[in-house]
Amino acid sequence: MKKPDGHAFSTRVVHHTRPVAEWQGATLPPIFQTTAFAHDTAENLSNAFAGKNADPIYSRLTNPTNQALEKVMAGLEGGAGTIAMASGMAAVANTCMALLRAGDEFVAGTSLFMSTYQLFAGIFKKYGITVRAVNPLDLDAVNNAVTDKTRFVYIETIGNPVMDVPDIRALADLAHGHGLPLVVDNTLGTPFLCRPLELGADAVIHSTTKYLCGHGAAMGGVVIDGGAFDWTQERFADFAPFVDRKGRLALLDRIWREHHINFGTTQAPFHSYLTLIGIDTLALRMERHVANAMVVARFLATRPEVAWVNYPGLEDHPCHGLAARQFESKGFGGLLTFGLKDPAACPGFINRLKLVLHLANLGDCRTLAIHPFSTQYVSFDDATRKKLAIGPEMVRLSVGIENPDDICADIAQALEQCR
Ligand SMILES: *Cc1c(COP(=O)(O)O)cnc(C)c1O
Repeated sequence: MKKPDGHAFSTRVVHHTRPVAEWQGATLPPIFQTTAFAHDTAENLSNAFAGKNADPIYSRLTNPTNQALEKVMAGLEGGAGTIAMASGMAAVANTCMALLRAGDEFVAGTSLFMSTYQLFAGIFKKYGITVRAVNPLDLDAVNNAVTDKTRFVYIETIGNPVMDVPDIRALADLAHGHGLPLVVDNTLGTPFLCRPLELGADAVIHSTTKYLCGHGAAMGGVVIDGGAFDWTQERFADFAPFVDRKGRLALLDRIWREHHINFGTTQAPFHSYLTLIGIDTLALRMERHVANAMVVARFLATRPEVAWVNYPGLEDHPCHGLAARQFESKGFGGLLTFGLKDPAACPGFINRLKLVLHLANLGDCRTLAIHPFSTQYVSFDDATRKKLAIGPEMVRLSVGIENPDDICADIAQALEQCR
C-alpha cells in the first residue's frame, strides 16, 4: 500500500497505521484476541522458535496488534525497534534490568516519577545495584557520578513533578564520552514536543497510559531502541550474544528475550488498539494541552492565594530557555505544579473543585488535580519528601483540553474559598 512520506508530525500521527493487505483495508489493526497462533507445519513452528521467520507463536512473545503499535512508536520517535508492554513501569523496569547486573551502578536524575524513584532507590538495592542520583541539570555532578561500574544514564524529558528540563543533547554527549548509553523517559514530552533519539539518546521509554493513549482508557508502556549505540565495547562484553543475534539492536533483543518474555510483562492487544486510536489525535490534543497549561500557569501566577507556580513555560522558570529550544517552540507540556500560601488549604481546594477531576493520573484529556504530599508520597518520610521537593503546599495539575476559561473559573472558585 502507498506510504505517506515527508509529511509534518501532525499529518503522520493521523496516518500512522496504513492499511496493509492482511487487514483488508481496515484503517486500524484487527485486535488479535488470541493466546497462540496455529502453524501449518512442524517446520514452520520450529523456524518461528528459531527466529528464522517472524510468524507469531504465543501472545506473551509477540502479538500482531501489539506489533502495529510498536511500528507506530518506532516511527514517531525515529527509532529502529520497539517493544510494547503492559505498563510504563514494565518498560522502565525491563529496560534498566536488561542493562544491569548485580554490583553495577547507574546514574539517574533526582527528579523522577514516584514509582521509578522507588524502583531505583529501593528495589534495585536488593539486587546489589547502586543508583547514583544527581541533579540532571548539573552536568558536572552527572559527570562526577560516573564510575567504571556505571552502565547507563537515565533521565526524564520533564521531571514529574519537579518540572525540570534536562539538556538531552548535552547529557547524551556526556554519556557517550564515557561509552555509556542515555535512556530517556519521554512520557511528559511525547514525540510531539521532543524526540530524544534525534538529540542523541539511545533508548526512549513511554508510559503510553498518559498522553499517547490520552483518554485514561488503557495502561501501557513502550521502549524504543535508537539502534545507534555500539554494544561491542569492553564494558558491555556481556552483550555479545545479543550483538551476535541482533547487532545494533542488542539492547532491545536483551530486553525482550531476557526480561519482557520471562517476567511476563505482556501488553493486552486491546490496550494497544486503544492506544493507537489515542495516537491519532496526539498532535491535536498536545497543541491544546500546552496552550491550556500556559493559560492556567499565567492565571495561577496572578492569584493572591498562590505562593509559586512551577511551569517551564513561564519566562522566570530556570529551564525556560532550554525547554523552548529543545521543544522547538512547540510548547512546554501539559503538567504544572503550584504552591498554596497556606498548605493547610490544599485538601479544601481539592474538595471544592467541580470540573477538575481529583485522581492519580496525568495526560488525560480531562484536567486532573492531585496533592502529591498526601497521596503518591504519603508513605515517604519527611526527609525524602523534602529531598524530592514534594512540599505540603504543592498541588499538581495535569491540564486537559477543555475550554481554558472553564478550567480557570473552576480553579478560581476553589481558590477563593482558601483565603
Ligand atoms: C506514569 C509514568 C510512568 C509509569 O507508567 P505506568 O503506565 O503508570 O506504569 C513512568 N514515567 C512517567 C514519567 C510517568 O508519568
